Amino acid sequence: MLGDGTRCVHGGESEPAVAEPLMPGPVFAAPYHLGGADRVGDADFYGRAGNPGWRALERALGELDGGHCVLLPSGMAAIGTLLRTVLHAGDALVLPSDGYYATRDLVRTELSELNLDVREVPTSGPFPPEVFDDARLVLLETPSNPGLDVCDIAELAERAHAAGALVAVDNTTATPLGQRPLELGADAVVASDTKAVCGHSDLLLGHVSTADEELARRLTGTRTLSGAIPAPFETWLAHRSLATLDLRLERQAANAAALAEALAEHTAVSGLRWPGASSDPAHGPASRQMRRWGGVLRFELRDAEAVRRLLERSRLVSGTTSFGGVHSTADRRAQWGDPVPEGFVRFSAGCEDTADLVADVLGALD
Ligand SMILES: *Cc1c(COP(=O)(O)O)cnc(C)c1O
Repeated sequence: MLGDGTRCVHGGESEPAVAEPLMPGPVFAAPYHLGGADRVGDADFYGRAGNPGWRALERALGELDGGHCVLLPSGMAAIGTLLRTVLHAGDALVLPSDGYYATRDLVRTELSELNLDVREVPTSGPFPPEVFDDARLVLLETPSNPGLDVCDIAELAERAHAAGALVAVDNTTATPLGQRPLELGADAVVASDTKAVCGHSDLLLGHVSTADEELARRLTGTRTLSGAIPAPFETWLAHRSLATLDLRLERQAANAAALAEALAEHTAVSGLRWPGASSDPAHGPASRQMRRWGGVLRFELRDAEAVRRLLERSRLVSGTTSFGGVHSTADRRAQWGDPVPEGFVRFSAGCEDTADLVADVLGALD
């Protein structure tokens, strides 16, 4: 198989054609010409049902995930589309209690009329046998956002399948280069490509991948009928960004490793977590299923004021929610209602020079 960098650069490309660009531009169309009175074969006919740019990016992401990719306009659109497609009224749904907060909110509010039997379990477990009983879907998130805890996808997929449940993994933090949940036994991957996959903090996008062709067809059907479709220009920007994902992750992980080392001994910092560090509690299980590390770490300062001071004094790090971009950012998660201490920081290492970033953060802390 070709390497990560090669697949990021060439994923989804079309046959080279003389005098055509290496990467075709976005196609803007509401209706397409039918070429006559009636549609010919499965040719594109309407923008809600199909776009050549979607298919190109879906080929690229699907190849990286090892399945059929269905592109959606955001990570939440991906999660919502999967849940609406798979779940029926009264179904049991297993969710991480410590994962992305909007997923829990979606289930509690928008999907409340389904009267789901929601079972929340922390990502680090334990997963008692009864949580899988008659479950329809087990949604895992590893590494979890924002806590960066890890669960064993292969083991949990086996247990969930034995109970007759489907398994989906929110792979946002890891990215398809960091972890391939479908190979580990998951039935579906959901992801917010808004984060590291797009990586420039300028657009929202998401996708679901599955090896199950029928499920992919149903997800596409939900997308077409719900009308929650990705915009052609955002899709094109995302595809353009994907080319450098391997390079960006490499620098981000190197920066996270250097910061984790520099902060480990710092007296103002506690609760430091980065799964790539050999001393991290999640390092063992993460090493068994992850292919590389990312740039997201977390730590705690004394209180909210200490986080404010850090961001005030830093030149390179901005207070920003989201993560995975080329700029280093830090997010005080308690402000958004995550069940974490006031001084809890999710830190996203960007692509700055390692020495500059470490010096900036240490200088801002002192
Ligand atoms: C950001 C995020 C989402 C939601 O993605 P959007 O693109 O913002 O809709 C879902 N899951 C995780 C783990 C995320 O970090």
